[in-house]
Amino acid sequence: MNLFQGNMPFFKGNLHCHSTLSDGALSPDEVIEVYRSLGYDFLALTDHRLLSPAAQTKEGMLLLSGTEMDYSLAGEVVHIIGIGMSEEYSRSQSSRLGPQECIDGMRHYGGRAILAHPAWSMNTLTTLTGLHNLTAAEIYNSVSTYPWNGDRADSSLLLDQAATHGALYRFVASDDSHRYQGEAGRSFTHVQASDLSSKAILEALDAGRFYASQGPRFNQITLTDTELLIHCSPVDTVIFYSNQVWAAGRCVTGSGITMAHYNLEANQGESFLRCQIIDAQGKSAWSNPISLI
Ligand SMILES: [Zn+2]
Repeated sequence: MNLFQGNMPFFKGNLHCHSTLSDGALSPDEVIEVYRSLGYDFLALTDHRLLSPAAQTKEGMLLLSGTEMDYSLAGEVVHIIGIGMSEEYSRSQSSRLGPQECIDGMRHYGGRAILAHPAWSMNTLTTLTGLHNLTAAEIYNSVSTYPWNGDRADSSLLLDQAATHGALYRFVASDDSHRYQGEAGRSFTHVQASDLSSKAILEALDAGRFYASQGPRFNQITLTDTELLIHCSPVDTVIFYSNQVWAAGRCVTGSGITMAHYNLEANQGESFLRCQIIDAQGKSAWSNPISLI
C-alpha cells in the first residue's frame, strides 16, 4: 500500500496561529502576509474562541475557517483547534460544555478537530485515550519551546503512549504563532490534496495523506506484508517507532539517506509503526502512525 499518490500535489500549511483578534501581535492581513512570504499555500487563523471567516482564497493563499477552544481539567488543559466549520458554528458556541462536546460540535458544522500541543497542555493518558473523533494531534507546536515557553514543543512520547493504548492519533505540526518573533514558519503540515480548496484539504486530512515537518519531506511511504519503506528528502537519521520499547533495526543513520526500510518480520507483536526523519540541520518530519492490527 502506497500512502501518497504519484501525481497529486503537496500543499504546505499552518493550521494554528493567532492575530490581534485574540492575543496575537499582528493583524489577520499581516499574519497572512507573513505566511505568504514563507511560501505557504494554506493557513487557518485560529484565534481563541472566535471563528475566522469561511474558506476563501486571498492572492493565492487558501484561508480555512478556524478557531481554538480551551478547557481546564484537573492538572491539565485541553486546547482544541477547529478548522473548516461553517459560519453557523459561531452562533452555537454560547454553551461551552466540555472537550468532547466541542469536538462533536466542530464536526457537526462541517469542520475537523485537532488536539493542540498535548505536551504543553500536560495532557494525561486518560484524556488522550478518552477523546474521540479528533482528526489529528500536534506532534510539534513551534511556540511551545524557549524563549517563549518551557521546552514542551514535542508531544511524540505522549502520542506514542496513547497509540500503545489504542488511541492512534495522526500528526500535524503547527506554529501556534502569537508574537511573530521567530516562531512563524518553524513547523508545518504538508498535505497531498487534489487541489487547493478547503474541501480537498479536509478530504486529504480524513484520508491521512499528510505529515508533520520542520523541513524534511516524505516522498512516499509504502507498507507491504514484510516491511515499511520510506522515500524522503536527504536526511541523516531515520527512526521507526512502535509500541515496543525495543525493536531490531529501529534506527538508520548515515548521510544523505533518501530511502529506508523497517523489517516487520524481525519484530513481533507490534500494534503500530511510524517514522521520524531528521536532516543534517537537526530538523525533523514525522509520518502518521500506521496500525498493524
Ligand atoms: Zn493557540
